[in-house]
Amino acid sequence: MPTTSPPRAWAEIDLSALRQNLAVARQAAPGCAIMAVVKAGAYGHGLEEIARSLADEDLAFFGVANVGEARRIADAGVATPLYLLGATWEAERAEIVERGWVPCLSTLDEARQFSDLAVAAGKRLAVHLSVDTGMGRGGFLREGLDENFRRLEALPGIEIEGIGSHLPSADEDADFTRGQFAGFGEIVDQLGGRGRFRWIHLSNSAGLLEYDNHACNLVRPGLMLYGVSPVPGHQQRLRAAMSLKSRVTLVRTLPAGHGVSYGRAFVTTRPTRVATIGIGYGDGYPRHLSGQGAEVFVRGRRLPLIGRVTMDQIMVDAGEVELRAGDEVELFGPSIPVAEVAAKAGTIAWEILTGITPRVVRIHHDGR
Ligand SMILES: *Cc1c(COP(=O)(O)O)cnc(C)c1O
Repeated sequence: MPTTSPPRAWAEIDLSALRQNLAVARQAAPGCAIMAVVKAGAYGHGLEEIARSLADEDLAFFGVANVGEARRIADAGVATPLYLLGATWEAERAEIVERGWVPCLSTLDEARQFSDLAVAAGKRLAVHLSVDTGMGRGGFLREGLDENFRRLEALPGIEIEGIGSHLPSADEDADFTRGQFAGFGEIVDQLGGRGRFRWIHLSNSAGLLEYDNHACNLVRPGLMLYGVSPVPGHQQRLRAAMSLKSRVTLVRTLPAGHGVSYGRAFVTTRPTRVATIGIGYGDGYPRHLSGQGAEVFVRGRRLPLIGRVTMDQIMVDAGEVELRAGDEVELFGPSIPVAEVAAKAGTIAWEILTGITPRVVRIHHDGR
């Protein structure tokens, strides 16, 4: 057997944290079933692994971005129904009908094609009606909805078993969001009431944590399942599932006046113990953290990043901490919230998590 070295940068993923966060979602939206959103490789946590680990959790659906993700989950042997969160296009629809994945509809044209394909296959495809109540990304507009709904209901190959909409500002604008909940409720009533639909859904993580979802019977949490709250108030109840880690590769003392990293944007002002760590933007550790006061966690201490993030390596000021090559470093996880890293990089936690690249080995484990 050839020797295999341990990975240079890795993400530890605690599957028990996911289950705990799922329980928080259930508590926060009593009476609602759960669509666990696992798009973008389960927010970077590993699509097949996360789908398999939640397969027995009595979920109504997994929410995926596209047919590629749906196929991977189905091919992994997971039987949980799969819901396509985004619009589909023509070339994808035969596969969707064949596999019985659940699309959301925004136009009559899509609906007709789905219906024709289903009729040709001797099937009836379950679909959801998507309604645009303010997101502007997909769905039927409220204007003309009655008429459109009648036409959809007349199509023989589809069964409209759900209705959904999406919240653009549940973590930013309470007045607008309350208006969406009210408007969505009216739309459901207008189209036949709660009894007409098997599934009624509006909320993402922020919507289910912050608002009353009793008018719905399904919620679509993503981010919170991975242990990150989209709004500050709920973070203590959640547990971060991913810890991004690497190792110190070098520790040296640089003299005063020595530049560190590209552009020499950082220059030492005193003799400085500089530790080099084997992770960079090629792993998804954002280059935008350069010069923003970011920190890493090593040997029980936070140490400041100095100089620019390079593709494969970063440098920190080790100060008085006795670091050694091989020391394990947390870039984010229990000691450094990913939300903090995102804020310092000028972005959101969703982007940091989904931006961790394939070079980072995902190591799944089942708790402490
Ligand atoms: C991504 C997505 C979600 C999950 O959003 P979070 O904010 O991560 O909880 C829910 N619904 C739709 C339509 C989405 O695209």
